[in-house]
Amino acid sequence: MTTCININGTIEDEAFVSVLDHGFLFGDSVYEVVGTRQNKTCFLIEHLQRLRRSANGISLNIPFDDEWFRREIERTIEIADNQESYIRIVVTRGVGDIDIDPSSCHSPCTLIFVTEAHTYPVELYENGIHLAVVSIKRNSKDALNPGIKTGNYLNNVLAKIEAGRLGAHDALMLNPSGQLTESTTSNFFFVQDGRIMTPSLDCGILAGITRDTVIQMAHEKGFPLEEGRWPIEALEKADEMFLTGTIKQLMPVTRLDGKTIGDGKPGPITRRLMNFYQNLLDRLE
Ligand code: PLP
Repeated sequence: MTTCININGTIEDEAFVSVLDHGFLFGDSVYEVVGTRQNKTCFLIEHLQRLRRSANGISLNIPFDDEWFRREIERTIEIADNQESYIRIVVTRGVGDIDIDPSSCHSPCTLIFVTEAHTYPVELYENGIHLAVVSIKRNSKDALNPGIKTGNYLNNVLAKIEAGRLGAHDALMLNPSGQLTESTTSNFFFVQDGRIMTPSLDCGILAGITRDTVIQMAHEKGFPLEEGRWPIEALEKADEMFLTGTIKQLMPVTRLDGKTIGDGKPGPITRRLMNFYQNLLDRLE
């Protein structure tokens, strides 16, 4: 496994950011995680668009254009020379005074971190994972909008810790109004009577690129799909559940709060969507 870090255009095996970088001090940064297929980036345009939306959301100017990112990502992947790559792009506010006010930060720091792709164990895809509904609420849209992918993930870290204590693989979070939102690094879907349902963006979730692809795919394949606002009770009659994310792709969920969902195996609609998604990745240029 080789790890290469491109820091503002210079590639190193190891890189360091200043202890005075506001990304380190305050989580004042934005980021993206990009996967590869045949070591070529997947959905890079969408990830760069979201990176810029996130940067706008925190009034951060990204000093490089998309062409720069494309070139530097390719160059870093090539030097790292792994079979498949995990790419993390981070843009921090940069070095400034030890003060919450970002006006002393004049140079954002741009990192492209490339390492060997890690995959989830096959058993998890075959058997599904266990989710726990946690007491930690997803950040309110009016506080730190979950639609902005910032380096401040403490909300999700706390949810993940609680899920671990409850013996689950991951957490399912509700918003402050008690509606379903998402997991700590993935979007949430459930299926009832053949109908696919997923919390709408206005519940306060990240607009996941995999979520979006799955929604489009479901429409194209003729599956009924609804985006909306649901309380936790809506899951009582769910036949299937799954998560979506760049690295995990589609991950079946077969237990919620210790209770078996359906027959305890990934459901038929989940499995069909998993297959469609793999075919779609195979067809990407
Ligand atoms: N929700 C959260 C909170 C995330 O952090 C992520 C991925 O990082 C997702 C959802 C899934 O988004 P995507 O499919 O773009 O990877």
